[in-house]
Amino acid sequence: MGMLDGKAAVVTGAGSGIGRAIAQALAREGAALSVADIEEGGGQATADAIVRSGGRAQFLRADVSRSEDVRVMIAQAAAAFGRLDILVNNAGLQHVAPIVDYPEDRWNVLIGVMLTGTFLCTRYALPHMIERQWGRVVNVASAHGLVASPFKSAYVAAKHGVVGFTKVAAWEVAGSGVTVNAVCPGYVRTPLVEKQIADQARVHAIPESDVVTRIMLEPHAIKRMIEPDEVAAMVVYLCSDAAGMVTGTALTMDAGWTAR
Ligand code: NAD
Repeated sequence: MGMLDGKAAVVTGAGSGIGRAIAQALAREGAALSVADIEEGGGQATADAIVRSGGRAQFLRADVSRSEDVRVMIAQAAAAFGRLDILVNNAGLQHVAPIVDYPEDRWNVLIGVMLTGTFLCTRYALPHMIERQWGRVVNVASAHGLVASPFKSAYVAAKHGVVGFTKVAAWEVAGSGVTVNAVCPGYVRTPLVEKQIADQARVHAIPESDVVTRIMLEPHAIKRMIEPDEVAAMVVYLCSDAAGMVTGTALTMDAGWTAR
């Protein structure tokens, strides 16, 4: 018996990294998964892996920053499994540059995917949860939803926005059996982090070989990267009945970063 037997979940950005680990962890607990991603290759691979492990999953292509994509994706997710109980807003990306050089189109993309995307998916998913008087929305924010780092203006602004949006949504649906929470990880070993090593080396004027120890692990009290499965375990907890009174929070898994 899984903790989430009979439930249906959507995880955005589940074609890679943390989202994939979350989708697989929810499936191991018995949830039927809609794997939403803009990239078909990774998204389909996640869905296939869940099915190979005996779970139920489908891939749905969607750009979460586009309203029409989200509306159709949520409708298809609910139709496939006859319900929608869990939404994990995880899709995201990074761009590292000083504010004065920050490309305006990248700013719009980062805010569009991580902040507007979180709003759009939540907007279309909530009615399905309120209808059954049970639901879980988990927003994958970041330690950068609570504190800043230089050269990450769009990312930090989007993630602070996600934490604020989480609080509003939690209040709006309180009493309907639906909880809304954010998780705030430090540096997690994923392609998103690996892809920024060259940019971090450039803006900080240090060798690429020093980026992990001097930039990424510097704010971690525990000097290692977090694993995607560790974040997934926290999300599974927030989706459980045991977390029914946890709402509106920004739960950290940041290796001690924000305790300083
Ligand atoms: P990742 O690059 O491995 O995965 C991100 C996924 O999001 C990819 O599959 C990508 O295709 C998808 N995506 C991007 N734009 C999309 C869009 N418009 N519509 C739908 N899908 C889209 O990255 P990750 O490290 O697994 O990051 C997942 C989430 O965790 C992000 O929100 C990120 O900000 C957050 N996060 C990551 C870290 C970290 O250190 N890796 C730390 C804290 C928070």
